[in-house]
Amino acid sequence: MKKVWLGSSWKMNKTNEEVGRYCQLIKPHLSNLSADLQTFLIPPFPYVKQVETALSETRCLAGVQNVGWASSGPYTGEVSVDMAKDIGASLVEIGHSERREWFGETDATVNKKVILSLNTGLRPLICVGDTADEKCWGVSAESIVRQVKIALHGVSAEQVTKVLIAYEPVWAIGEHGIPASTEEAEMGLAAIRSGLTTLYDSEIAQSVPLLYGGSVNIHNAKMLLRQPNIDGLFVGRTAWQPEGFARLIQLVTEVIEEQAYA
Ligand code: PEP
Repeated sequence: MKKVWLGSSWKMNKTNEEVGRYCQLIKPHLSNLSADLQTFLIPPFPYVKQVETALSETRCLAGVQNVGWASSGPYTGEVSVDMAKDIGASLVEIGHSERREWFGETDATVNKKVILSLNTGLRPLICVGDTADEKCWGVSAESIVRQVKIALHGVSAEQVTKVLIAYEPVWAIGEHGIPASTEEAEMGLAAIRSGLTTLYDSEIAQSVPLLYGGSVNIHNAKMLLRQPNIDGLFVGRTAWQPEGFARLIQLVTEVIEEQAYA
C-alpha cells in the first residue's frame, strides 16, 4: 500500500509555550502510528528544532514554511536550505499561495527553491492552486499543471520521487475558504498526476505523493482520502490544536485500515 501523508503548517502562529504543550499532547498519538502513515508538522522557523527534538522518536517529520532561493549571500532575512537542514527540517514547504500573494513568490522562484532543496537532501512540498477567477473561467487544471511543470523544470526522474505536491485551491484555504468537494479535489490531483505522467512516466507519476489542502476538517477528511489520486492531506486550522490533529490521525488510520481490508 502507498504511504498516506498527513501534516499541518502552523503558518505564523504559536508561542514557545504553546509549541511545548502541542508536542507533549500530540506525542502519544504519534507513538503507535500505522506503518502506512507518515505525519509531519511545519512550525514557524524558530520552533522547528523544538518540534523535531520533541517528536524525534515518532514518525513525524519537521519542516520549514519557506527557504531562500539562493544558497547563501547578501539576502537579509532569508533562511537557506542548509540552515533549514541544520535546524532539523526534512521537508520544505514551497510556493504556498500566501507566499505567492504577499511575498512575491513566483513559479520561477518556486523552481529555484525546489532544485536547491533537492540538492540539499530536503524534500520539497510544492503547493499549487487555482484562484477563484481561474475556477470560474474553467482553467483550473491548466493553471495548476502549469505551476507544477515550472516548479519541476530541471528536476530529474530520480529526484522527483523525493517531491511531494499539494493541491491547495486558493478559494478553499483559510478562514474564508470554501472547501473543495471531493470531486473538485480529485479532479485537481488527477490533472497533476497526468501532468507528471507526461513529464516523466506513469510509474514515476504514481510514486509522487499528491496531497489535498484547503479547509480539510474532521467531516471531509475521510471522503477526500478515499479518492484515487489523493495520497494525503495538508491541513491548516483543523490541526492547529493537538486535539484536532489527533482526531485527523484517527480518521486517516481508519481509512488506511479500510483500504487494507478492501
Ligand atoms: C493552508 O492554508 O494551506 C490550509 C490548508 O489551510 P486551512 O486548512 O486552514 O484551509
